[in-house]
Amino acid sequence: MTSLTPAMRQYVEVKSRHPDCIVLFRMGDFYEIFFEDAVTASEILEITLTSRNKGKEDSIPLCGFPYHALSTYIPKLIEKGLKVAICEQIEDPKLAKGVVKREVIRIVTPGLVVDAENLHAKENNFLAAVNPLGSSIGLAFLDISTGEFLVSDFQDPQFFEAEMAVLEFREILLPEDLRRSGFSRFFSGREPVCRLDEMPGEYFDQDEAWRRLSSAVPENILERSGLKGHPAVVGAAGAILRYVEETQKNTLQHIRRLQWYSTKDYLLLDETAKRNLELFRTIQDNRTSGSLFSILDETMTAMGGRRLRWWLNYPLVDPEKIRERLAAVAEIRENHLFRENLRRTLSGIYDMERLAGRISLGVANARDLIALKNSLSSLPGLKSLLADKTSPLLERIFLGIDELPDLHDLLERAICDSPPLTLREGGLIKDGYDEERDRLSSMMRDGRRWIAALEEKERKRTGIASLKVGFNNVFGYYIEISKANAANAPEEYVRKQTLVNAERYINQELKEYETAVLNAESRCREREYDLFSAVRDTAAADIPGIQETASWLASLDALASLAEVADKYGYCCPSVDREDRIEIDVGRHPVVERMPLKDGFVPNDLVLDTELNRFLVITGPNMAGKSTYIRQVALIVLMAQMGSFVPASRARIGVVDRIFTRIGAADSLIRGQSTFMVEMNEVAQILRNATRRSLVILDEVGRGTSTFDGLSIAWAVAEYLHDQKSIGARTLFATHYHQLTELAVAGTGFRNFNIAVKEWGDRIIFLRKIVPGGTNRSYGIQVARIAGVPDEVISRAREILDNLEIGEMDEVGMPKIARSRKKKVRNPGQLNLFMSEKERVVEELSALNLSSLAPLDALDL
Ligand code: ADP
Repeated sequence: MTSLTPAMRQYVEVKSRHPDCIVLFRMGDFYEIFFEDAVTASEILEITLTSRNKGKEDSIPLCGFPYHALSTYIPKLIEKGLKVAICEQIEDPKLAKGVVKREVIRIVTPGLVVDAENLHAKENNFLAAVNPLGSSIGLAFLDISTGEFLVSDFQDPQFFEAEMAVLEFREILLPEDLRRSGFSRFFSGREPVCRLDEMPGEYFDQDEAWRRLSSAVPENILERSGLKGHPAVVGAAGAILRYVEETQKNTLQHIRRLQWYSTKDYLLLDETAKRNLELFRTIQDNRTSGSLFSILDETMTAMGGRRLRWWLNYPLVDPEKIRERLAAVAEIRENHLFRENLRRTLSGIYDMERLAGRISLGVANARDLIALKNSLSSLPGLKSLLADKTSPLLERIFLGIDELPDLHDLLERAICDSPPLTLREGGLIKDGYDEERDRLSSMMRDGRRWIAALEEKERKRTGIASLKVGFNNVFGYYIEISKANAANAPEEYVRKQTLVNAERYINQELKEYETAVLNAESRCREREYDLFSAVRDTAAADIPGIQETASWLASLDALASLAEVADKYGYCCPSVDREDRIEIDVGRHPVVERMPLKDGFVPNDLVLDTELNRFLVITGPNMAGKSTYIRQVALIVLMAQMGSFVPASRARIGVVDRIFTRIGAADSLIRGQSTFMVEMNEVAQILRNATRRSLVILDEVGRGTSTFDGLSIAWAVAEYLHDQKSIGARTLFATHYHQLTELAVAGTGFRNFNIAVKEWGDRIIFLRKIVPGGTNRSYGIQVARIAGVPDEVISRAREILDNLEIGEMDEVGMPKIARSRKKKVRNPGQLNLFMSEKERVVEELSALNLSSLAPLDALDL
């Protein structure tokens, strides 16, 4: 320490208080980063690593960037899961005695991002805290940019695990040592996308937590949240508030809408299901386009986008609530003109939730307030559009939207319409809002006018046509005369600065005006800043109203989006109830039907219940459309439960509480397990957890292992799902093992369907139509032909298949499994359109006329 300069000592001291952060140390116009931090940061930021005292023994690794680049560099560090402490100079270096005072003014962490440019507009950025206590796991999470603050309690670790996947947290606070306990599995594989912070136990302390909660959250909201009696959750919520307090160095008024939520109220979709159903990203290339969300999202505001995303993550299970949304969607869809006006008005509304957050955090600038004002300006129009709407949800939205006229009026009177980004340079406040500011401003204007006139006056007086009056930050105002004319400068001009081609002067008069103007300018700027801050504080008092309104607008926008999509793509309003039946007429896959298909999308029907149509075995060759069909059913159910219209001509949905999926073997090695292991894990989960209320979608179970193994497993899984009374889930089972159609012989709930194909000579044509009954062929070779496998290989495959088929009949194999079922039904002999190679040879041989065959030909033959 003693060998360090005072500034470096200060740095070391700051760093010691923030050992887990990259410290950005403000030095003049730069942020400097030292020691190991410099090594880490230079690599991530791709900036040069140099050193202080280069070449000497005590050299210190160093890198840095200009202060104005802060907002470009911070996100890069955050993305890598790092925390960043911003250490500013908090006094004017000119006035400082000794080393300038510095202080960490804010800590930016992956879970606590507030700057608009670092956030995805239509996504939340959540910080979570997890607190296992006794038999429950407390979870709290916060989006600091919007103030959304949710809590829940999990008794079942499995539900908790599903939640962890759904919410895509950016940062999680854990009690110390938790990771080393059995809990670690919940978090494995999440870093570095998600940062894990181990916190001392005191962060989760009950008393502390209550103290913080009661001061942050209004009493009635706290009461309503039902937190009492859930110490695990209280602890988690407290940890979040403490962390926010420590990192933001600011009291926050927008974190007040604490909300209890329970996974019981929602259709549960675990990570696998969300991935398989491609709700937000495609499996193959992880793109957002081609996902269900990309189809449904026609929202006009960022808030609406986030709300819709939430609805898709959390479809409802209560038919009443679902019907309420559907009725609102129906009403918006019905009237084209209304919908157009509504959406146009919404498009003029900014992200009021995040604006409220920025106001509360004290980082809102004048442009933010103008964005807020412009948003508020749209509200009266919006309300009059909604005034005659009759669906209960739209009525509630109408009543819930507060136009905040006083705030609007204040912003209108006070803030300039196109203010600069900075707050200290003036140009923020309108004329007529404040007398003192107007006085200073007119002094400034008069002085400037006088100075502008001076140029003309002095040119005339001196006869120097090239004389100019100018201004720069270092020397202030000056009169400039070119070198050629300098000799003619009047006597009273005092030389200020010499340039290559010109001399710069000042005279007494100009000096006086300069002082007056500069004085007025700096006082005016200060006055404007103070006025602006006061306006911002007034706006801060309205945060509850802004948030409430923003939340209603978010829902309105999400509903309007669903209505728009429903109309655009010809969806129907599903009827939703608590019965066990699912019926779909003319159903389509919402994403696949939007793709360019040669012959258009072929719609299909469905009937599923918990009795005779409980377990549909869907066979058909590869590429026939099995996966598409079973996914489309899951998506239609899910869309209906989120309150959306569905791609069908009629749909009746008995709500499901959970959708399980086991789909394809394409995705895989993410967690270092083999494909087959992943598949079996998923199957195990389903067998353990599915209930009568669940919907199970199984695609090609057992594909990841050898044919016989795979078939046997698929068979046993199907039997178990069907036979276990405790499960009884509605299931769609797609398989290319046509042998599984024999299941229907034994169980009452099994139904066979197949996706029809037409045989045409040695070829097949996919009809995409689902029809009752099973298939008895795989058509693998025909599909291979369609895929462009060379003819030679195709005919060789056919030969091998023929041989195998003979062998199979005699050995223990598929038919044997079938026989072990009580009745064995063989598929009725189908027309054998393909003549096998063997048959063809036999035919050819028997057609020979041996007596006329020459010896050489016989040999050839
Ligand atoms: P499988 O699961 O039977 O191997 P997929 O469901 O993957 O087959 O379907 C293969 C392709 O067939 C899809 O990518 C899609 O292009 C097309 N397809 C599937 N279902 C339909 C349909 N109902 N109408 C039109 N094309 C379809």
